[in-house]
Amino acid sequence: MKQWEQQLQQLNNADMFRRLRTVDGAQSTHVKLDGRDVMMLCSNNYLGLANHPALIDAALKATRDYGVGSSGSRLISGSMRLHSQFEERMAAFKQTEAALLFNSGYAANTGILSALLGSDDVIFSDEINHASIIDGCRLSAARTVVYPHADLPALEALMLKELPSRKGRWLIVTDGVFSMDGDSAPLAALCHLKRQYDALLMVDDAHGTGVLGERGRGSAELHGCLQEVDLHMGTLGKGLGGSGAYLAASRVVVDTLINRSRPFIFSTSVPPAIPAAGIAALDIVDSAEGVVLRQKLFENQNIFTRQLVDGGCDIGVTTTQIVPIMTGTPAATMAAASRLLECGLFVQGIRPPTVSAGACRLRATLMATHEQGELKEAAETISRLVTEVLA
Ligand code: PMP
Repeated sequence: MKQWEQQLQQLNNADMFRRLRTVDGAQSTHVKLDGRDVMMLCSNNYLGLANHPALIDAALKATRDYGVGSSGSRLISGSMRLHSQFEERMAAFKQTEAALLFNSGYAANTGILSALLGSDDVIFSDEINHASIIDGCRLSAARTVVYPHADLPALEALMLKELPSRKGRWLIVTDGVFSMDGDSAPLAALCHLKRQYDALLMVDDAHGTGVLGERGRGSAELHGCLQEVDLHMGTLGKGLGGSGAYLAASRVVVDTLINRSRPFIFSTSVPPAIPAAGIAALDIVDSAEGVVLRQKLFENQNIFTRQLVDGGCDIGVTTTQIVPIMTGTPAATMAAASRLLECGLFVQGIRPPTVSAGACRLRATLMATHEQGELKEAAETISRLVTEVLA
């Protein structure tokens, strides 16, 4: 007990203590946070699907027809009609032979990497990949080689170094959209490398699915390499408005995971409402409404980022709806976040271990449902307060 108290005290002293905040209402552009009205600028409800009537109806109908819980893991009793219907729909969406639904993105990444790769294999992983990929690499028997962020020449040099001792499979794994920086992975060049060195490519498109590409198929569609990515992983909890995650890949990969992936095998499957809402989300993403939502999100992103840059903010290398505003130290970051909150803007401060020390930032995330005028105003307020805090 005493040790934990001391640890927490140390975190507090270093401006690193984390606490939960309570949101009332759905994840829309305005919510009540700990009882006060704020503009939401840190939700991953990018397309507004988390509270879209079609998804709510689908989830309610599934709950009425099939009940609240699945009451079993997939390999026991919990593989219900809606789970497999969603998987077929997702495989068609990503144009793969098969797909598999996981309970979360964290479970998917740890479960995929640990099940597919063995001790003769090597995983090449971008240095700022999501924590769930890092943990998946740790759980896998394969050796992990971390390459500098999106640095293709450095990755190739590391591959050349490994080549003489190569024994097994090679897998390159990358976020499609990097979750704290908002930049898009250089997928076309990664596909080129994977062909050249006979490697597999896995893309975690948690932040790209539904949002990027003409038809919302994600980062691989945007970069013109949907067919070349071997393992399309993504989550349902962001652009798709629900919860859970998927892997779309070949039949043999999916069957291997069904037989070997421990988070898949040993967890109760997601409630039927989840795949039902997932199918409804894919229907919207794939429709004219999806095109309009993506266009609105893109326009919002342009208005917001232009205003921040004009106001003197450093927004790094983002090209997407994830917009970091660099603040440096934990103290400056938390001071900026709390002053923004006083002005009614809910933006989270991001500190280690999520980002490296010295690279703390505010991380704003945009939604298609934000109004352009309110985003412009919010960006003005953020620029002013961040400039004051950093002065
Ligand atoms: N991958 C990335 C890139 C993510 O940003 C996240 C969520 N923060 C995950 C995986 C984990 O997904 P989930 O929240 O469904 O566990």
